[in-house]
Amino acid sequence: MKPHIAVVGSINMDLVFQTPRMPLPGETLMGHRFHLVHGGKGANQAVAAARMGASVSMIACVGDDANGHSCFQALQADAIDTAHVRVVPDCATGVAGILLDDAGQNSIVLATGANARLVESDIDAARSTIAQAKLLLCQLETPLSTVLHAIQSAKQVSAAAQEAGQEPVKVVLNPAPAQKLDAQVLKQVDYLVVNETEASLLSDVSVTDLPSAQAAATVLQQLGAGVVIVTLGAMGIWVADADQAYSLPAFQVKVVDTTAAGDTFVGSLAVAIAEGMDLRAACMFAQSAAALAVTQLGAQTSIPYRGAVERQLQ
Ligand code: ADP
Repeated sequence: MKPHIAVVGSINMDLVFQTPRMPLPGETLMGHRFHLVHGGKGANQAVAAARMGASVSMIACVGDDANGHSCFQALQADAIDTAHVRVVPDCATGVAGILLDDAGQNSIVLATGANARLVESDIDAARSTIAQAKLLLCQLETPLSTVLHAIQSAKQVSAAAQEAGQEPVKVVLNPAPAQKLDAQVLKQVDYLVVNETEASLLSDVSVTDLPSAQAAATVLQQLGAGVVIVTLGAMGIWVADADQAYSLPAFQVKVVDTTAAGDTFVGSLAVAIAEGMDLRAACMFAQSAAALAVTQLGAQTSIPYRGAVERQLQ
């Protein structure tokens, strides 16, 4: 049985400019190539989860424009349930302008568009979908109030499910882009996945390496988060479970574009958790998927399928 995952999050069209270097203020620079790629943290994580074999429902908003229609179709092409993707009239779909230089670094400007229109009533309309899911996956490219409402809804339906002897809906939060969160929020999160920037902002510990990631994870757990996973790019991850904490190395690969590495990690991790994989194995599964994503250009174009992820793990 495929695990069912509900994703509340953003949908963007990524406009990717490959450039020899980042332009200076006021400078016009001749780039190499341009690519139009489906993206958005929510959609990327949904696609990663679908390609890892989950049945995925997306709860999101797009604008009534060509980008929105294209993003909608892209989700359906990955067999993602779009019944709760609302088309907002007179509103642009979210767009990300991405500059990618020859060193593989990226700089991004985001115009959030329809993503800002995802509201609590969208979550209420999808409540039965959340109730049926094994896991709710959220990021912060949509309004925080909506994300919090989704998490609270998952907790409410879980309470009812547990009374009926069923499993609760697990909550995975990837608080990206980084934003301060109350301890009240962290207490409701079963799995918190943060990169260096997010870990630093949320914990007030400057995270640059494994020891500082460990210190930040300890703070975040003291604030109430369940499992904390700090992703450190090519340095791998720090995992803080309830009763043990450890680091795991990243796979060594040739970097082409790190866009969506974090999203691939989170979406794949969610599937492994929903399948009941042990946490260490789930983390290596997610790292295998993320490493493959950095070897390809773009967001959803770079997200691998399960077969390749499992082959790399052998
Ligand atoms: P984000 O994109 O959110 O900043 P990271 O850069 O920490 O996230 O990447 C997420 C995960 O992707 C890492 O924990 C690692 O498993 C994988 N990854 C990222 N960059 C590399 C890399 N250069 N080589 C191998 N794996 C990588």
